[in-house]
Amino acid sequence: MSERQDCEVIVIGGGPCGLILAIELGRRGISTILLEERNSPVRFPAANATQARTMEHYRRLGFAEKVRAEGLPPDYPTDIAYFTRYTKHELARFSLPSARAAREIVKTLSGSWSAAELPHRVSQMFVEAVLRAEASAIPAVSLRPGWRMVAVRDTGTGVEVNAEHHDDGGRVTLRAAYAVGADGGGSPTRKSLGYGYVGESGVVRDFMGGKMFAIHFRSSELYRLLPHPRAWMYWAVNRERRAFMASVNGRDEFNFHTQLRPDQRAEDISDAQAKAMFYEALAATANIEIIARSSWNAGYTLVAEKFQRGRVFLGGDAVHLFTPTGGLGYNTAVEDAVNLGWKLAATLKGWGGPALLDSYETERQAIAKRNTAYARGFADSLGLFVPPLELEDESPAGEAARQRTGDHFNDHARFEFNIPGITFGGRYDGSPIVIADGTIPPPDAANSYVPTACPGGRAPHLWLGDGRSLYDALGFEFTLLQVGAKPASAAAFRAAAEALNIPLTVVAIAGQEARDLYEADLVLIRPDQIVAWRGDTASDAAAVLRRASGHR
Ligand SMILES: Cc1cc2nc3c(=O)[nH]c(=O)nc-3n(C[C@H](O)[C@H](O)[C@H](O)COP(=O)(O)OP(=O)(O)OC[C@H]3O[C@@H](n4cnc5c(N)ncnc54)[C@H](O)[C@@H]3O)c2cc1C
Repeated sequence: MSERQDCEVIVIGGGPCGLILAIELGRRGISTILLEERNSPVRFPAANATQARTMEHYRRLGFAEKVRAEGLPPDYPTDIAYFTRYTKHELARFSLPSARAAREIVKTLSGSWSAAELPHRVSQMFVEAVLRAEASAIPAVSLRPGWRMVAVRDTGTGVEVNAEHHDDGGRVTLRAAYAVGADGGGSPTRKSLGYGYVGESGVVRDFMGGKMFAIHFRSSELYRLLPHPRAWMYWAVNRERRAFMASVNGRDEFNFHTQLRPDQRAEDISDAQAKAMFYEALAATANIEIIARSSWNAGYTLVAEKFQRGRVFLGGDAVHLFTPTGGLGYNTAVEDAVNLGWKLAATLKGWGGPALLDSYETERQAIAKRNTAYARGFADSLGLFVPPLELEDESPAGEAARQRTGDHFNDHARFEFNIPGITFGGRYDGSPIVIADGTIPPPDAANSYVPTACPGGRAPHLWLGDGRSLYDALGFEFTLLQVGAKPASAAAFRAAAEALNIPLTVVAIAGQEARDLYEADLVLIRPDQIVAWRGDTASDAAAVLRRASGHR
């Protein structure tokens, strides 16, 4: 490249996608500038759930415990509970463990929840603070708050990004090898590439289909007013004011969301009206102090037509918009960054082949379509339910209506909030860098996950004899697992990796449990913990490694 470069990758946007990408790149020594137009962090809680797979990535990156320490107190239950109104009848409840219990329970689970980490219920604003601290501690990463990207160009040999400073109007032109737009739903980067979203928007539902209005508030007396056991997520189901509320810190902060009528605009709602909406869901009044307000649209199932053009990539909300049911938007954004991070780094370091970067769109667009479709199904199950007329009547008919409604939401809660199949079961079948072995993976299902080492999916998890997670033993780049009591030789893989300059860690795991789980003597695991290949001999080692690293 002839032009001077300011860094190797410019990341546009410092939400979860951009921050994780900067961390993945920076940890690999790739010089990265992250432009974020906001000067100060968002103080709105936004997403409420970090899925188990995202927690496993945070563990791989070394900060899962920091994230798990955030949000609710360690012993606060993460129940999901449904009420007619928060101080009235409880209809249904799905009890889930506290953060402290989750750490212990995960070591005892098998089958669908065979994992290194369980989900963590925490507001996105707390997670982002951890991600920002992690990113800013990496010498190769330069975070630039207050800088807005105004133009991005692919010059053929690199990228040029024009940026403008929020306060003083200062301007710079930055040059790099690649740029990534992680700039959210409005994505100026996506728009500048000329790509739109494809799918559904403007779906109308009784609830979770339309304009939503949210307040983040403080109330020191709310818990005293709630007559039911504590929960993480409180839903109000009635014909007047449907809503959900998440506990933010387990003490005095809450995040309340309700749907506006089609003729209402968030800007026109006074704080007094906002409080009145909350009081309707509470069926009482309370002292509350509004910290922040927000509005958003429910009813999107949108995926961008393209995730890349030349040297400019897109990830996160810039390429997929969800209805937040299932809690998948931020988590899918993180996995985009994980997928793209190692591929960009490998390409820049020279060991990634020419097909590697193209596999990003192939792999992640399919997952975006899958995950947005799952979220849509949850929104239908929740939002198309019509509360019976007599639901709040203090009568036998009212009691019967509450029983029926409770049955629906007891089922719904398990459908929407027990989703190991979605979080662990995403697959990259058909990817050019996955070497299929002719086996057929278990069917995709939201609520169950069948661990499988069929190439293209997450490497099945197991706890090692010394108490460590298998994932803690894997290398940061490629890993060759030698599985079983009499491991096949790794020599051919070591030699091929050396010849191709591919960083490869070899890990032997003895024991029949591992052999039964992986059904092969040798397994090649990618840096994002996806099985690239499995087999019983190393005779094709060079061809396997070439293909998995994007060489044709
Ligand atoms: C109420 C609500 C609840 C939700 N609940 C969940 C949940 O439980 N689980 C879940 O997974 N998801 C949830 N989501 C979705 C989640 O918040 C988003 O999917 C997530 O923030 C996407 O991350 P991102 O990094 O792609 O984009 P964003 O978080 O939008 O970050 C993009 C960043 O780019 C910056 N930017 C934009 N333009 C420029 C520019 N020109 N130059 C520089 N910077 C720029 C923005 O300031 C922003 O910081 C929820 C969303 C809402 C609204």
